[in-house]
Amino acid sequence: MPTVLVTGGAGFIGSNFIILARNKQWFNVVNLDKLTYASNLETLAELQSDINYHFVQGDIGNVELVSYILEQYQPDAIINFAAESHVDRSILSPQDFIQTNIVGTFQLLEASRFYWQKLSLQQQQQFRFLHVSTDEVYGSLNPKDPAFREDTAYAPNSPYAASKAASDHFVRAYYHTYGLPTLTTNCSNNYGPHQFPEKLIPLTILHALDGKPLPIYGDGQNIRDWLYVIDHCEAIYLVLQQGKIGETYNIGGLNEQANLDVVEKICTILDKLVPISDFSYSSLISFVKDRPGHDRRYAIDCSKIRRHLGWQPQENFDSGLLKTVQWYLSHSAWGNQVRSVNYQNWLKQNYENR
Ligand code: NAD
Repeated sequence: MPTVLVTGGAGFIGSNFIILARNKQWFNVVNLDKLTYASNLETLAELQSDINYHFVQGDIGNVELVSYILEQYQPDAIINFAAESHVDRSILSPQDFIQTNIVGTFQLLEASRFYWQKLSLQQQQQFRFLHVSTDEVYGSLNPKDPAFREDTAYAPNSPYAASKAASDHFVRAYYHTYGLPTLTTNCSNNYGPHQFPEKLIPLTILHALDGKPLPIYGDGQNIRDWLYVIDHCEAIYLVLQQGKIGETYNIGGLNEQANLDVVEKICTILDKLVPISDFSYSSLISFVKDRPGHDRRYAIDCSKIRRHLGWQPQENFDSGLLKTVQWYLSHSAWGNQVRSVNYQNWLKQNYENR
């Protein structure tokens, strides 16, 4: 069975990907993760006794460590999920985003290039470096604009989006300059189990259960495309297996939703699952001052991956959202564990001074 080095595998999407990969016996996994605030190794506890899963704590920007891991485990592919991923945090302190998303990806590419150059010709042809990126690199759409395509010009508006855009450019450059067999995926907003509760959906669920205000930026009409995380993981696997090297694939849920509608849907689900008499969770909705530079709308044209690789999203938004709420309800210990003092301080800093 092939071996894949997954970076950032203790975070939201990476952990869902690793669990799926091991359950489906896609490959052996080495997980390199720095264990930042956004990670939780508990999520991967079920893999503790799996002899084909290895965890290494470390930074993708540490070339010596990455080179050692590559020599030690001889992976057939690398999937780079590791990133600082939250737009609000990138506004408050962009440095970490520059360090991990740009410098870290560059160092990971360097270590990968040196490793790849030493492989046999056949191994070189089979090797893949898959970089997981975001639709936010394309900037903001007006209501009637066509959805982002792979050839849409990059126009990032937040420090997070700019740092991911830069990393995408380095990945592209390593293919064109050195021939490293790279692939890039640009995906819309993910939702599902294991997501750190700074992001809209888990933040809303956990705040509602605690009876806290549900903050909505601006008028709540900013539109995002939402994709269930397992659909994203399946798409990444398909691109890894069958994607054309050097190419980019957009991945999306064909599911545009205004933020306010998402929050109201969660409230409706909670009204049914955790009813409180004479109370609707939607009464907790609280409009707060908008995020600076807040992109109005994202939409993804994912016809390329459908046409070329036969992928399309499987999960319907209402059922995916219900599953997600149910997961947080049945994993309250997980939710309590990740909401540290630092997290509480960050919430205050981000929302209370608006
Ligand atoms: P996340 O914040 O939940 O997890 C990121 C993981 O990376 C964490 O486990 C963290 O410890 C690790 N990490 C951070 N810096 C590191 C470093 N220097 N070295 C090693 N590990 C490090 O993020 P996520 O939501 O799972 O996103 C994963 C990837 O997918 C990111 O690259 C993100 O840009 C991209 N993406 C996310 C979404 C989304 O909706 N969440 C959508 C599209 C693309």
